Amino acid sequence: SEGWLSRLKRGLSRTRVNIVGLFSGGVVDDDFLEELEYALISADVGVETSTRILERLRDDIKLKGLKTQDEVRRALRDELERILAPAEGTLNTDQAKPCVIMMCGVNGAGKTTSIGKLAKRFADDGKSVLLAAGDTFRAAAREQLAVWGERNRVEVISQTGGDPAAVVFDAVSAGRARGMDVVIADTAGRLPTQTNLMEELSRIRRSQEKAMEGAPHEVILVVDGTNGQNALAQVRAFDLYAHLTGLIVTKLDGTAKGGVLAAITAMRGDKPLPIYYIGVGEKLEDLQPFNAHEFASALVG
Ligand code: GDP
Repeated sequence: SEGWLSRLKRGLSRTRVNIVGLFSGGVVDDDFLEELEYALISADVGVETSTRILERLRDDIKLKGLKTQDEVRRALRDELERILAPAEGTLNTDQAKPCVIMMCGVNGAGKTTSIGKLAKRFADDGKSVLLAAGDTFRAAAREQLAVWGERNRVEVISQTGGDPAAVVFDAVSAGRARGMDVVIADTAGRLPTQTNLMEELSRIRRSQEKAMEGAPHEVILVVDGTNGQNALAQVRAFDLYAHLTGLIVTKLDGTAKGGVLAAITAMRGDKPLPIYYIGVGEKLEDLQPFNAHEFASALVG
């Protein structure tokens, strides 16, 4: 079957003005550079970052004497890689025992799917994993987690209609008592505009601190890559209430908006949130560590 990298490439090539398709072997002139800037903005790199990239490319063209579109393409790929590289990061579950990972995001972002994929990864690495079904709103979410758990021989702690902070507190306490390696706490999907639900997120966070000093060790926002620039607003809002330590960006196999990773990375200056994984499909193996070089290459060919 088709590899994840080519699926990622196919998704990213769906820009209105396809970046890869721009490099047709023609001349490098002002028209070409303007089209390139427009293509970057269309791919949701963001206006500011796109303008900065173009400034650097124009400098390169002058100073390094780049002549062909292929040389410009390579300079663009290097520039994107340079922007994205600080966001590479490894999710280290050995930092504590159990390592408590809190997951949050809006509904439909791919949170439950990503938790399943993560649990499988950890279980495959020989780690014992406990899942806390902190999404006490949707029965379907609990059932989905239970299915994942069974499939991967991972226990799920849940409570119908319970208080999510209490469920998560119990799970972290149980994880400690049983000497588990990893506890993953799911939380119900919520929108940044739902202030009371966002405040609940702080409460769920605090209940983990109460159950174990230093917990949660990781707070990961799962964000849908097809949301483009809207993803930036989500990162800001969730960070405010939950203090994020990292991101998982999903659905990059189906989007032309992959440039948003550059925008997210540029948002925090020289200290971007690590993008631990990217989602490139619905199957278990479709959660891949984020690699700046691979991603920049997929974006511009
Ligand atoms: P949640 O509401 O955040 O828990 O979202 P779900 O995990 O239920 O995912 C919503 C939908 O997105 C499901 O149909 C998933 O199969 C799909 N999905 C999740 N991650 C990816 C991905 O990386 N690529 C694709 N193509 N679909 C995904």
